[in-house]
Formats: sequence, C-alpha cells, structure tokens
Amino acid sequence: MNSKMKWIYNFGNGHADGNSLMKDILGGKGANLAEMCNLGLPIPPGFTIPTSLCNYYYENNKQLPNELKAEVNSAMQKIEEALGRKFGDVTNPLLVSVRSGSKESMPGMMDTVLNLGLNDETVIGLAKKHKNERFAYDSYRRFIQMYSDVVLGVDHYLFEELIDLKKQDLDITLDVDLTVDDLKDLVTQFMAMVKQEHGKDFPQDVNDQLWGAIHAVFGSWMCQRAITYRKLHNIPESWGTAVNIQSMVFGNIDTNSATGVAFTRNPSTGEKKLYGEYLINAQGEDVVAGIRTPQSIMIDGKNPDADLPTMQESMPKLYDEFVKVINKLETHYRDMQDIEFTIQEGKLWILQTRSGKRTASSALKIAVNLVSEGLITKEEAIARIKPESLDQLLHPTIDSKVKYQTLCKGLPASPGAASGVIVFSADEAERRKSLGDKVILVRTETSPEDIHGMYAAEGILTSRGGMTSHAAVVARGMGRPCICGASSMSVDYKNKQITVSGHTIKEGEKITINGTSGEVIIGAVKTVQPDISRSFRQIMEWADEIKTLQIRTNAETSIDVKTALSFGAEGIGLCRTEHMFFETDRIMSVRKMILSDTVKDREAALAEILPMQKQDFIDIFNLMHARPINIRLLDPPLHEFLPHTDVEMKQVADATNFDHAFVESRCRQLSESNPMLGHRGCRLGITFPEIYKMQARAIFEAMVEVQKNSDFKLSIEIMIPLIATSKELEFLRDLIVNVAKEVDLQFNFKLEYQIGTMIELPRAALRAGEIAQFADFMSYGTNDLSQTTFGISRDDAGSFIPTYKERMILEHDPFVRLDEDGVGELITISVERARKTKPGLKIGVCGEHGGNPESILFFHKTGLNYVSCSPYRMPISSFSATQAKLKFS
Ligand code: ADP
Ligand code: MG
Ligand code: MG
Repeated sequence: MNSKMKWIYNFGNGHADGNSLMKDILGGKGANLAEMCNLGLPIPPGFTIPTSLCNYYYENNKQLPNELKAEVNSAMQKIEEALGRKFGDVTNPLLVSVRSGSKESMPGMMDTVLNLGLNDETVIGLAKKHKNERFAYDSYRRFIQMYSDVVLGVDHYLFEELIDLKKQDLDITLDVDLTVDDLKDLVTQFMAMVKQEHGKDFPQDVNDQLWGAIHAVFGSWMCQRAITYRKLHNIPESWGTAVNIQSMVFGNIDTNSATGVAFTRNPSTGEKKLYGEYLINAQGEDVVAGIRTPQSIMIDGKNPDADLPTMQESMPKLYDEFVKVINKLETHYRDMQDIEFTIQEGKLWILQTRSGKRTASSALKIAVNLVSEGLITKEEAIARIKPESLDQLLHPTIDSKVKYQTLCKGLPASPGAASGVIVFSADEAERRKSLGDKVILVRTETSPEDIHGMYAAEGILTSRGGMTSHAAVVARGMGRPCICGASSMSVDYKNKQITVSGHTIKEGEKITINGTSGEVIIGAVKTVQPDISRSFRQIMEWADEIKTLQIRTNAETSIDVKTALSFGAEGIGLCRTEHMFFETDRIMSVRKMILSDTVKDREAALAEILPMQKQDFIDIFNLMHARPINIRLLDPPLHEFLPHTDVEMKQVADATNFDHAFVESRCRQLSESNPMLGHRGCRLGITFPEIYKMQARAIFEAMVEVQKNSDFKLSIEIMIPLIATSKELEFLRDLIVNVAKEVDLQFNFKLEYQIGTMIELPRAALRAGEIAQFADFMSYGTNDLSQTTFGISRDDAGSFIPTYKERMILEHDPFVRLDEDGVGELITISVERARKTKPGLKIGVCGEHGGNPESILFFHKTGLNYVSCSPYRMPISSFSATQAKLKFS
C-alpha cells in the first residue's frame, strides 16, 4: 500500500479533514459528519478510517497494516485531549461508538457498537464521574449486549431472554424500572453467558475491544447479507466500507437527556413540516427497536399512545435550537434530510445526516417546493426523480385511512390496487365482467390463452412465477395490478377456491390486491384514484420544456388514444392495423379474405373490411388532429387470424360457405413454421398486394373525409413492416402512391402523406443507406430487431416470447432494456448510413424499449427524433427523455 495514503480523517471542534464530497473515501456517514463539523454544528469529535483500508484488509488476508495501530492511537489521543478524558481510564473514561458506513447506506453492514471502552473498572469510574451509577451500569449492559452480538457473534436474543426473566422475577415490564442492583446482576449473568457461548471471557482490555470492533466492521463487508444486497443493487465490491470512531454522547443519563430521529419534511406526504420522534433518557437504538413507544418531536403530530410530552413541550429551548440546526442542514444540502441526534444533560449533539428516503409522491412535492423556495433549479428537481417511480402515481391505491386484513403476500408484479370477486378461468372472468362484476383473475400461473380474461379482470393474482413471468409482463403492459408468486396460497381449480393457512376463499367472494406492495387482502377495500397532483403536473411541464426527444404513443383504439393524449402524447408512433382485424365483428370477413383462392374473391372480402377500417382511422384522426400518426400496414403471418381447433374450423366453414376439408387444408397450408421470419410483413404485402391496397385506400379515404371538414392538417405516416431490402420498399411505395393517385382523382383532392419503414431486421439496419432512398421516415421495431439480432433484452433470459396477439395488448415491460452492444450498434450504424443518404431523416422507435428509461438515454444520444410507448408509460418516457437531454448536453 502506498505509504503516503491517508489512513485517518479527524473531525471535531469545528474542523474536519474531510467533507461531504468525499463519500468514496469516507463513506456517506463519515463524509457528512466531516461536513457538519465544518459547518460548525455540534458533532462529538472522532475520526474515520477510510474505505481504502477495507480493500487493504481483503487484499492482505484480512490483516490491517501494522502502522495503522500508531495512527489510531494518536487519533484517539486527539479525542482524549479535546474532551479531557482517557480511553480505558478508571476515573474519567472516554467511551466511543464504532460505526460502519459505505458510500451508499447499505443494510447488511455491521451494526453500530455504542459505549465501547467500558469494563469492570471503567464502569465504576463512569458512575463516579457522572454521579450516576444506574446510568453507568445501564450503559455497560448495553455495551456487552451490542458488542457480543455484533463482534463476538453471540445471539442478541440470549441477552433479551435474561432481561425478560429478570423482569418477570421482579414483576416489572419496563427496562427503566430495573434498579442499579438489577443491572449489576444482569451484567454478571451476561458475562457468564458470553463465556459459555463464546468460549472466552468478554474482553476487558479496551484496546482489544476497539480493534475487535474495527475488524468486525471490515469483516461485515463480505457477509452474505451485504453481498446479496450489493448484487441486487449493482454496488461494486471495490467500494468497501469506512469505519467511524466517535466519542459517545449519552441520551440515557437523566431526564434532561434524550435521543431521536427527524426528517426535515414529511417523508410520506412531502409536506414542508418537521417530522420526527424522540425518547427521553434513552440511547439511539431504543427509538428503532420498539422497546418503548417514542413521542413526536413536534406538538403537531403528537402520538396519543406515548404518554410522554413532545420535545417541543418538554425542552422548548432545545427544540428551537434543533429546528435551527436542521433547517441549516436542509438549506446546506439543498434536500430533505434524515437526521439522528442526542441530547446529553441539556446539550444538543448531531450524530448523522443524510438525504431522507421518501415515497414517489413526496419526492415530487419536495422537488417542486425546493424549486419554488429557490434552493434548487428545475433541472436539478428533474434529475432527482427516478422515472420508474412515476409508475406508482398513475394507478389506484388503497385508501390510507382504511384498516384491513392481509391474507398473504406475493411479489409486487404490477403496481396499483384493485378489488373484485375472484374467478379461476379467463372465460369466467369475461362472463362475469359482461354482467357488470369487477373480477380478480386467480391462477397458479397464466398463459397466452388467458389474455382475454386478464383483459376483463381488474387485477391478476398467481401463486407461481416471478417478476418476469407471463402474468407479470402482460399485466404491466395492460396497466392491470398484479401479484405473482403468492406461494403460501394454494389454488384449487376443482373446488374453485383458494386456501391460505386454513383460510378459504371461494369463487365469487371478494378480495383486494395491492400490486404495489404485494399484499393480498380479504374483502373489498376502498381504493382511491390517483390524484395527479399539482406537483406532478408542474414537473412534467418543466420536463416538456427541456426535452428534445418527441414522445409518442402506441395506440390502436380510441380509448388508448384518449388516455395517451391526457398524458401529453405528441403523436402516435405505432398504430397496428391488425388489431382492427381481430375485432369479433370483422374476423369472419378477414378469414374469408385469407381463405380466398382467387384475387377476385379476396378483393370481395376486403371490400367488406374497408369501410370498418376506414371508420377506425376517422375516429383516430379526429382525436389526434395535426399530431403525427404512424399507421403500420398488416404485419403478422396470416395463420394468426385462422382458427386453431376443429370446432372453430367448422364454425368458419359454416360462416364462409367453404367446405370443412378446404378450411382445414388451407389452415395447414398457411401455418408458419417460422412465424418470426416467414411469410408475413411486407412479404405478405408483395404476394397479396390487394391487402395493402385496401389498407392504403382506407387510410386515404379517411383522410379525405376528415380533412374536408377541419381546419387542422393531418400528418399521416404509412409504415411498412419487416423490410429487408430497398427493392421491397420501392415496390410497395409505388403500390401505395398509385392508390393515393386514384383517391386524389376520385375525390379531387391533393393528399399529403409520408411512406416509411420499420427497421427490425439486421439486414435492413445494415442496408439503411439504400432503404432511406425510398423512405420518408424510419422507425426501429426494437422488439423484433432484438430477437432477430439475438439481442439480450431481458434480465431474465428464460422469460417468454409473446405472440402477435399478445403484443397487441402487451405494451411495455419496464424490465426490458435495449441490448446496446448488439442491437444498439446496429441502430447507430443504420442511423449514420440512412442520414448520409437523407440528411435529417426522421427516425423513431416503436418497441417496448421506447418505455424503458435506460434505453431512452441511448436513443437520445443516438440522435433519434422520437420514441413511442404505451399510454401508461408516457410520463416515464417523457421524464427519461428530459433526463437524457440534461445529461448529454
Ligand atoms: P445506522 O447506520 O444503523 O443508523 P448509526 O451508526 O447511525 O447506525 O448508529 C445507530 C444509533 O447509535 C443511532 O441512533 C445513532 O444516533 C447512535 N449513535 C451512534 N454514534 C453515537 C455516539 N457517538 N453517541 C451517541 N449515540 C450514537
Ligand atoms: Mg444512523
Ligand atoms: Mg415486427
């Protein structure tokens, strides 16, 4: 190790070696202790051993450098001089806390040890010095408990057992009712128990205590819990943890002493009001451990279950001082702070500050307020919000005033709350829904056959499967709340009931699911529609001003279009026309068209579909006005429209006047062994030109009709799917242009429109330079492009690949991110080649990735013009686009 490297960072007495920017070196806790010291706040003096020593520790067989001993000794001496006490001294002992702390606060790290430096002799000195024997022995027994648990690995419940036994013997319930002698006796019992469990005496040498704790902090960096947490949160092992050693202040000396935790604003509502709890005559861990019920710091918010007075009432002067200090911290850090403090004999000490955790809605409120208070800029406010967190705000939630009974818990697979009667099959879900019931579909797991039932249901509950299971992905796409993998629940299809630890709920009985928390609740609980708050609107407005990437939506129905417009859609990026073919009143005509043997028969069948398709377009055009609308011509292979079962084939034969054997053979003939790359998309358009001609005519006639009676100018983009070569596009472009000319002549109208293509094959991406000659725009179909590139787009490689029918409903999966190495490179290359042919060519994205924050950063960087996503993901996309703009300009 470099000998010049600094091993000790002191803080105390208004001066510190570090500051808040040094979180890498000092960890969050250490860096902020230093910063607060520099701000002149009352911080008990101490020092931080930096994270570099954690790395040293693991690189050197769990040894620390020998020279560190001397440095720690001299740092301890500094504290001793500042406070006039001595570590291990029998008359006036210095006690310290040993605290871990990495760059980001991390559960799994070592718990803090308080009161280190006490032994059988110093405890007597402490008692004499403070003239308070009870306090000294209370501190000693706490120290033995914490140290044995955290450093020696003796289970803490063994201590609690001894305390409980003692209280039972004495017939008391509160720790505070233990007398000095009781505490002394407990200390003796603890010592004996530690020796038995640990095999050695509890360390009496204070230096052994100190080094034991330092080693334990570094050791905890590699404990299983910490390793797992880091994996889940992408925290690199190389960060390491720092060790903070700090002189003790005591909240447990007398009734003029206290300890507590406070937030500078309410973390659940975001309201600008101090929020916090404290306990008189207690030490730090008491507030969280729940041994006693803490009281509110402020009168406003007083807890009726805690009979003590608030801090505002019991210590008004200190309260005022405290408010000043925490306001100073908030102004300094320019964010809501979470603060730990202790009061010793009437003097306030601050022990920690950090940015407070908060709910999604309070994060918005706080950010907007901080802007209006002039503490941060609009840009900073936007940068602080996690785009994904907005998802929480767009779905109904459980009314917070309501009490309810939880049946069991599963994975929170799709956010929002929903109530309804339970049903066990997709058909039953549809049936009950048509009768006006609200239903929750319960399955062990779902499959593509359940789609219609999932659509009919208010929410979905499964007993198996994870966050990327079929149920989870489809539910998120549909915006339906969903809980997956509720494994304690057994689903009994035969008797139509679910059972959880003896509790049975039958079909038709009500439950509520909370897809945000994973709770399954008995009965119907009141849910509240999200109140799209003022802060939400405000911050979205700012975001819109900044972003340059246009946000469009994928929408085929008027409902989707209306929802998307309410979220600020700037256009439609993908209107899938096959959706319009699946409607029950037209599927027969579609099937007739497909089954037709001759062009003439096919044209006759298409003529039946034309007016319906035209009306769909008219409806959408009238909603979208001048905003761009991208319409994709028929894409899926024909067999997706044909019947699959014998019964269905018979129905089709009857309805179309074809004979059964013919229908069967045609179905077999059209069945695609490779639905991904087979006879579909533009290839279908080339072999059956009448299909695209009909679709183009429907679009153009709708344009004429809408344009005639309006003062806005439609902006229509016709998109051809699955192009592989420029020849295909050239051919189909001519075909569509000719239809336009016919319509022009027929209605004496000059149609204006654009023709472009989807890029979803690697070949098309590479040939984009030639393809661009015939394209007015390009749009990346990143779903198919990912699959045809063998792109890795899901974290869970085993997850399912949806069929076309599913994709029409299934929109965006937040877990999908673009594979930048494979697919991303193709996009980069093709953008460059296409724009070399046509500078400024309009290029967008219409895949699930258009709703994924990380992918959006990439699209912005690559210079695309727009992304398109499902209506419900629009705020997330729009926000991500703004953050991308802020990050890359
Ligand atoms: P965590 O990261 O789990 O919050 P901390 O190191 O902040 O752990 O400490 C746990 C508790 O111990 C907190 O309530 C804190 O205020 C208290 N504490 C830590 N150091 C001291 C100290 N030097 N004097 C008094 N209390 C302390
Ligand atoms: Mg803390
Ligand atoms: Mg495709």
